Parts: sequence; C-alpha cells; structure tokens
Amino acid sequence: MSLRLSFYGGAGKVTGSNFFIEGARGKVLVDCGIEQGADFCEACTYGPFPYDVHTIDALVLTHAHLDHVGRIPKLVKDGFRGKIFMTPPTKDIAELILRDSASILAQDAARHGMAPLYEEQDVDTTFSLIETLDYHTEKEVAPGLSVYLRNTGHILGSASVRMKDEEDVAVALTGDIGNSPSPLLPDWEPIPDADAIVMESVYGDRLHPPQKERVALLRATLKRAISKGGAVLIPAFSLERTQLMLYELSNFFAADELSKVPVFLDSPLAIHVTAVYEKWGPTYFKSATEEEMKREKSIFEFPFLRQTLSRRESEEIEKTPNPKIIIAGAGMSHGGRIGLWEAKYLPDPSTTLVIVGYQAPGSPGRRMAEGASEVRLNGRGVRVRAKVEILEGWSAHADRDGLLRFAEAALSGKRTKAIFTAIGEPAAERFLAQRIHDYLGARAIVPDIGQTWEITKDSVKKI
Ligand SMILES: [Zn+2]
Repeated sequence: MSLRLSFYGGAGKVTGSNFFIEGARGKVLVDCGIEQGADFCEACTYGPFPYDVHTIDALVLTHAHLDHVGRIPKLVKDGFRGKIFMTPPTKDIAELILRDSASILAQDAARHGMAPLYEEQDVDTTFSLIETLDYHTEKEVAPGLSVYLRNTGHILGSASVRMKDEEDVAVALTGDIGNSPSPLLPDWEPIPDADAIVMESVYGDRLHPPQKERVALLRATLKRAISKGGAVLIPAFSLERTQLMLYELSNFFAADELSKVPVFLDSPLAIHVTAVYEKWGPTYFKSATEEEMKREKSIFEFPFLRQTLSRRESEEIEKTPNPKIIIAGAGMSHGGRIGLWEAKYLPDPSTTLVIVGYQAPGSPGRRMAEGASEVRLNGRGVRVRAKVEILEGWSAHADRDGLLRFAEAALSGKRTKAIFTAIGEPAAERFLAQRIHDYLGARAIVPDIGQTWEITKDSVKKI
C-alpha cells in the first residue's frame, strides 16, 4: 500500500499552501491557501485547480492564516462538497479571516476589471462544510485515510496533520511551525511517527534574536517613544502579533515599567480575533498562561486600553492628546486604519513608528523601514519625519535552528525516510534541506510545484 503526495502550492514559495494526498480509496487536500506578496500570481489565484475538485473527499486545515485558507471558497464555488476539518479555534478564526478577505478580494477584482474570486454565498457554503477536530483524536476523514492533529505552536489552533492509510503508511504536513517558546502557546509537538514529512522552511536560512531580548527591546523602544511625547503607531497583523503586543503591554503596565498612556486597538478584525483568543485561551494556551487567565480577568486588556470597533469610535482617537499608542492593521501599512493614522502623524517628528513584523518588498512598511522620507498611503504622498524603529524576533515562525530541532525530533522516531522542505523561498528550502542532510544525516528533498511522490513503508520516490 502507498500514499501519493502532490505539491500544488507552497513549494518554492512561502504562500499558497495546497497539498494533495491520495490513498487506495480516498483523496484529501491539506490547506487551500492564497498566494500573497509582491510576486502575486493572478493565474495561481484565479486559475482552475489542477485536480477535479468534485472527487476530493475532504480538506484538512493546518491553521487559519490566509495563505493556508484563502482559496477555500473558490474550491467550494468550483464544486467541492466534502467536509472541511480543523481545530475549534481555527474554525472561529478562519470564519473571521474569510469574511474579512471576501470584501478585500472583491474590491481588488473590481479594480482589475475581473469577476470576484468567489461570492458571499460560497463563503456561507464553506462554513456549512466545516467540522471541528481536536488535537490528539484519530479520525477517518476519507475512505481508508485517517488524520491526527498535533499542536505546532504557530498561532492559536495551529496544527500539524498526520495522515495514514489502513496499513499505517503515514505522511505528515507541518503547516507553519511556531517560534517556541511563545508566551501564549504551548511549544510545538514533535511528529515521530510518519514515513515522510513535509515541513515549512520560511526562516530556513535565518536566525531570530533571543526571545528575552525582544521583550526588553520593545519596552525600551516604547519608553523612548512615549518620552518624546508624540503618537506611537504600531502597524500589526491582526492574528497573533496583535495579541502578543497587547499581552506584553499589559505586563509592562502592570509592572509599572511604562508610563500609563492611552492605548487604542483600532482594527475590527484584530478586536474580533482577540475575542477568539479570550474564548479559547483558557483551554489552548500553555498551562502557565491558562492559569494567568483564570487569575486575571483578561491577559489582553488593561484599564486604559480602548477597542475602537466602529468608524466613529476610531475617529474619536484623534481627540485624545499625545502621547498615545495606536495598534492597527494592515501589518505592512498597505491599507486599513493604520494608513489614516500614518498620514496624520508621520509628518510630525515627535511620532514613533514601531515595526514589529515582516515587511514585503514594495510595501509602504518596507519603504519606511528602509528610510524613505516620503511614502504613498491611500493614494497620496506622505512625508515621514517620524522616528522609525524596527524590532525583530516577533515572528510566529521557528528560525533556522528551531526548524532543525523540529526535524531532529521527528527523526528521533526512527521511522521518517525523507523530509520535504517546503513553504519557503527556494534559497531557504535548499539551505534547510542541506542542514538536515549534513547535521542529521537524513534524506531531505526540495520538492517542485506539480511533483507527485509515492510513499510506502520502505521508500519515498518521485513518480
Ligand atoms: Zn501561518
């Protein structure tokens, strides 16, 4: 018996995860993400899927980031009617993310004179197909194929997917692997029981600064920014990064390490996602943080935090005198409410812009990080006289040493015959594969898009 694994997305690229697994009787997809970033590929997003979607029995999701879930409504629009499996927190977050992206994608399509990728009703149908599956529960999701999910410590609800057939031939896909230890999530769990593993390699060739340093740097940067007396702007991704920022701010204020200035969470999506973190934190966070949640009313809120959901509430922020902190999306300043605040406050030298996330080439955030004195925001030029501070190490991805430890833990099970390095830029995938080979003495493969591999109890080979 064998499993066939095909790479239809997330090979040689960070985004657009889409893997196809075929057993003797069943067919399952893992992830159905959208491609993002400067190298946006129209055909990859709007083009047909490279398989007959009607014949797929089920879809299993690793986590709710758009590059892992963004094309699901199109899959449904094209005729997929199988069940979609994911952890309970992933379901709650995916519903928010897909609703949010539906309107953004529709605007994008209209701008390019194209039909929308999918309609609102496709999103509704998608939700009706979802079935939750918790970590550590074996479940047959297609004829002869069962899955087992484990925590990967990347974002709330993130999971690796181990899929096996009736004769116990198993392949595992990591999705994204967390930058453990995280203050919120438990560390990633090893996968010692798969014949082949597809692992992410986003930071396969780079190191993050140590975690302790990143908190101290954040504190020192905010202290400096507040003492300048201006606005402190933090463009942040709504999912995980924003919650980490709120958690650290709450700690700084509770310990009197920072002057108590007003903090605004000015993003409807981030406000809704934070509510999902509040809901599931007591059962899905690491145990010390779960205890903290039981002791305190909230680990993300503090007395002078205001969540500004409506446009009117958001506009009121302006009336609050500086210094104040505004956290808003988009994370790369490429839209959303942060653009409005940047247009208002960046020309003022007392302002500080704190960049805590990856900035894609070509994005306004990247231009500011590189020292541009003027950027285009919402269609108009804005002078940048503000201080721009760049803080590294807040990534939700393991770095090159974390990934190598993950591979080592998997190989300690003495069952894995090959590790595919995927979900990364080609150089990062190759670098990680070389290190797995050199340091761990294991077979590592950099797969190409469109390739199919056959996995048995004894071998992993391309067909
Ligand atoms: Zn992710």
